[in-house]
Amino acid sequence: MNNNHTDYPGFIDFLHLIEDYLTSGFKTEPVVLQAEEAGERLQEGKPEQTSTQLESLHNEICACTKCDLHFNRLHAVPGEGVGNPLLLVIGEAPGGQEDKKGLPFVGRAGQYLDKWLQAIQIDRTTNCFITNVVKCRPPENRDPHPEEIRMCLPYLEQQIKLLKPAFLLSVGRISSQLLVESTKGIGALRGGTYFYRNLPLVPTFHPSAVLRDQSLRAKVWEDLKLLRTLMRR
Ligand code: SF4
Repeated sequence: MNNNHTDYPGFIDFLHLIEDYLTSGFKTEPVVLQAEEAGERLQEGKPEQTSTQLESLHNEICACTKCDLHFNRLHAVPGEGVGNPLLLVIGEAPGGQEDKKGLPFVGRAGQYLDKWLQAIQIDRTTNCFITNVVKCRPPENRDPHPEEIRMCLPYLEQQIKLLKPAFLLSVGRISSQLLVESTKGIGALRGGTYFYRNLPLVPTFHPSAVLRDQSLRAKVWEDLKLLRTLMRR
């Protein structure tokens, strides 16, 4: 990455988005759930009851001391978004900005992720929920240890049960390997559709990786287009 990128990250990201749109033939179109399907999903749980259960789960996460990651956190980061989302995005763990604010994907990578999602008409304020496999920041942003993932995974399982998303998008190696149950790298895992708890899952690169290596952008758009196709079926 050259110095100009670090001087004007937002502007450069915006240019990249335009370039992605032009070079990948990426066109945004409304993603609409079939009315019947949407109705079925909404009726599966009473919204008020689910919302209370989610709030209770997120309070539990914020007070959790099950693994050593709680020692250094400023905030646990349960996730952010709407209940009963069309899409649940799953990353690996909070970073520095997320730890400070208690919200997922709020740094530069998070803003980039929001642009990806907006390109397929997904937004955390309307039809998406964003979370991580591990809810507390690992020191120096290291990879979460297997034991930490094991301790934290029940929270994600509970979130999936309560949120009832229609589709899953895993971003990055850690969450993708976990959900696909594979040790392959993300470069080998992406490009296909999998299932986790009977939900269609599309793995792709982590936005931080794409900010570091711009050659990955076209592959991310391929994955987003695949996801968009699934959502429109
Ligand atoms: S990472 Fe998960 S298991 Fe560990 S303290 Fe935080 S919430 Fe608890």
